[in-house]
Amino acid sequence: MRYLILSLAVSSLLFIKCSNAQNKEPMSEEHKNNPYYSRTDTAHLNVSNEEWRRILPREVYAIAREQETEWAFTGKYWKTDTKGMYYCAVCGNALFRSDAKFASSCGWPSFYEAIRPNSVKYIPDNTHGMMRTEVVCGRCDSHLGHIFDDGPPPTHKRFCMNSAVLEFEPDENK
Ligand code: FE
Repeated sequence: MRYLILSLAVSSLLFIKCSNAQNKEPMSEEHKNNPYYSRTDTAHLNVSNEEWRRILPREVYAIAREQETEWAFTGKYWKTDTKGMYYCAVCGNALFRSDAKFASSCGWPSFYEAIRPNSVKYIPDNTHGMMRTEVVCGRCDSHLGHIFDDGPPPTHKRFCMNSAVLEFEPDENK
């Protein structure tokens, strides 16, 4: 009887260990210091700027947490037209499909819709003497860019994003 209980206990432990191993995402070198990064967990994050400053590369932190904007025509994705998915570079949340990306003359990566309605959030932004709508990540609240009403059909929206807070994964990598 004692042997049976012991065997069951060992099997349960092994099962739990295997389940955890299966759920664990492959973590790239780039995100090994970021315990909040996940492409599958959509739970909202409440992480202080102090903590993000410790984790994120300086240029990502400046845009994501201090609302800075990269120079037009300088970001790594402004003219990318490869098929794939764009994720939040801060937390791994899926944001945009390449299908919704369009060639905008503005010099920033531009999309006409987000992958899911709740993958981003909108905040009124009256800074710099303009009335704009800020777009932030729906999971980590990081600043991504702004949305304008001059995009193409079907939505006529233009999500004007900063490349530094996006992370592109081509379909061919899957
Ligand atoms: Fe995020």
